[in-house]
Amino acid sequence: MMRHDSDCLFCRIVAGEIPATIVFSDDHTVAFRDIQPAAPTHVLVIPREHIRSLHELEPADHDVLRALAMSTQRVAELEGIAGAGYRVVTNVGADGGQSVDHLHFHVLGGRQLRGLG
Ligand code: 5GP
Ligand code: ZN
Repeated sequence: MMRHDSDCLFCRIVAGEIPATIVFSDDHTVAFRDIQPAAPTHVLVIPREHIRSLHELEPADHDVLRALAMSTQRVAELEGIAGAGYRVVTNVGADGGQSVDHLHFHVLGGRQLRGLG
């Protein structure tokens, strides 16, 4: 049974209840543009399932983790940034700066990125 939290913003985007600009999606993942882009390409890659953060991933979630990695590659290809390079970031918890408690990879590119923050 797919985990879902009806109070979660990203679960609601997956369900189509909140609009988002979808870049790519497959059985396990959805990738959509960040509403407040920090770079020319700023896409969020998320699992369809509600998993709070990277820290809540379990060994049994290997299919999800693999799909997130493959979807991230696809997004970089589709955005035309794979050759120049890009950055993948996932924030975990309060000190990590996580503001939406549904696992997401930020895919950033399209300019030279500096520092880690
Ligand atoms: P975090 O701070 O948790 O690592 O990243 C959450 C990201 O979600 C932020 O970069 C923020 O701009 C983005 N975000 C927040 N609300 C929405 C929304 O309703 N739609 C979209 N597309 N992105 C959102
Ligand atoms: Zn969720």
